[in-house]
Amino acid sequence: MSRPVLLVVDENQSSLRAIEEELRDRYERSYRVACLGSVAEAGPELARLAEAGEEVALVLAGDSLGGAPGREFLAGVRKHHPHAQRGLLIDHSSWGVSSTGEEIFGAMALRQIDYYLIRPIKPPDELFHQSISTFLLEWAHARRVTAHTVHIVGESWSGRAYELREVLGRCALPHTFSLADSPEGRRLVSETGGGEPLPIVVFPNGDVLVDPTNAELTIAAGGPIDPQGREFDLVIVGAGPAGLSAAVYGASEGLRTLVIDEGGIGGQATLSSLIRNYLGFPRGISGRRLAEEAYEQAWVFGARFAFMQRVTGLSRDGDRISVGLSDFPDVSARAVILASGATYRQLDVDGIEALALKGAGVFYGGPATEAPAMAGRDVFVVGGANSAGQAALHLAEYARRVTVVVRADSLAAGMSHYLVQQIEAAPNVEVRPRTEVVGCEGEEWLTRLRLRAGDGAAEEVDAHALFLMIGARPSTDWLPAEISCDERGFIQTGAELDDSAWPLERDPLTLETGMPGVFAVGDVRQGSMNRVAAAVGEGSVAVRLVHDLFALDRVDSPSATL
Ligand SMILES: Cc1cc2nc3c(=O)[nH]c(=O)nc-3n(C[C@H](O)[C@H](O)[C@H](O)COP(=O)(O)OP(=O)(O)OC[C@H]3O[C@@H](n4cnc5c(N)ncnc54)[C@H](O)[C@@H]3O)c2cc1C
Repeated sequence: MSRPVLLVVDENQSSLRAIEEELRDRYERSYRVACLGSVAEAGPELARLAEAGEEVALVLAGDSLGGAPGREFLAGVRKHHPHAQRGLLIDHSSWGVSSTGEEIFGAMALRQIDYYLIRPIKPPDELFHQSISTFLLEWAHARRVTAHTVHIVGESWSGRAYELREVLGRCALPHTFSLADSPEGRRLVSETGGGEPLPIVVFPNGDVLVDPTNAELTIAAGGPIDPQGREFDLVIVGAGPAGLSAAVYGASEGLRTLVIDEGGIGGQATLSSLIRNYLGFPRGISGRRLAEEAYEQAWVFGARFAFMQRVTGLSRDGDRISVGLSDFPDVSARAVILASGATYRQLDVDGIEALALKGAGVFYGGPATEAPAMAGRDVFVVGGANSAGQAALHLAEYARRVTVVVRADSLAAGMSHYLVQQIEAAPNVEVRPRTEVVGCEGEEWLTRLRLRAGDGAAEEVDAHALFLMIGARPSTDWLPAEISCDERGFIQTGAELDDSAWPLERDPLTLETGMPGVFAVGDVRQGSMNRVAAAVGEGSVAVRLVHDLFALDRVDSPSATL
């Protein structure tokens, strides 16, 4: 296979030479470097490479090309190379200048570029290379070509193969899927000897699992399912952003901490293709990457994890709380943090659930992994909140046409202004206000949708995929009656608890539920902010409150290192 291409176009000749030297020096073994001095050469070269079946991993473009902003050239790159990363080159002297910042922000918001980088000054310019390797890592993740990639081969995109992809996603493992009759699928099947029933899962070390259970796959992927012990200081229910944050703080402050999740890591955040508003990640970070990093951080601090375990009950037993698990004996803790989040509501349309369960063109949540497969298709997003807006824009990078279906009169009612603006500016995104999805067609995969407008007029449309983003509900039915919830099932804490819901003389601590010693954080809590940063903040606050509680109860607790 030919090496993927790193293509640079810059009219600043000395910059072009410097970049060429830096790239050849460090990357030529794995990538082919092509440096061109004008858009007139670079445009046709991108088209030629696509026609020749050559992969372009990264395109860097000067901030001004042929009298036009360089971002305009970069905006067209993905027509030919859907996975290429796109970096805008700026001078060191422009960094920190507000007009440059505005240009970058605007270009990123319109998804014309992935990020910027500063032209190299003199070697060794490690800042420049950090930017390049970040671009290449993003590309490798998008292409699923990292050395640790797990390969699934199945007979169709849906069914069990889809479920296995979901499990690997939740174990934060890069993975790829090939149909058995594709060239890659045939190669993988023949390398494993053939003859096994599908789907099969091929690990980087050559191990093969034949139609494994979710638990077998999790273990093979390195994920723990056994709590490895019965007694803990702190048990956290849920490994989404709130639970992972509580795990990092709890374990780092010396609490013997166990995190239990009925899936893997990341919770809803894994559905977000690009979180742009989380502190410290100016180029944005995918929810999955954020969760992977947080998991590693918690694990290094000594937190223990049990995946594929559902927490089924909570009860107080003296000064300890007993936590019931789906597949193992109960564990106990001195404090429990409920970080069990929320899941998307379902659409009440015949046939939709069957397709959603198979992953056959109907998806709850954002298109984090499905988006590239939508290239050239007509897709629909139902929902009017920010997550729907983000999903539509992400899909628009690949799909032929994205239609946002919303019951409200306009998107402005539920979506941030900046997203509404981006959607209006996106040429291939259409908004259908006052409209509902009322029917669907498709056996193996979604083929058509029936839409009904506010005036009752119905219309049938071709549809390759439907992404449902219509609000979330918490899964709190299993909680004991002492833990009071509002009418929608969200857990009440602290000052929200009325006197009848609180058994002790002392006031409940902030974030403490109706069962003393049990806290609730993140999206499962009544009044939560539904933001990653808020969930992370609450996870850390809850650990501080756990220390306060231990001090209040005069229970020996490891000292906090705040
Ligand atoms: C598509 C999409 C895009 C988003 N984009 C952004 C964004 O750009 N910026 C932003 O700030 N926020 C964004 N959000 C919101 C953000 O992801 C959530 O606010 C955040 O994930 C909430 O974190 P959490 O830990 O409270 O819950 P969750 O992320 O929901 O995690 C809860 C976890 O608990 C587990 N669990 C539930 N019940 C049990 C049980 N009984 N036993 C064991 N485990 C259980 C679940 O499996 C899950 O892993 C987005 C959400 C979505 C869906």
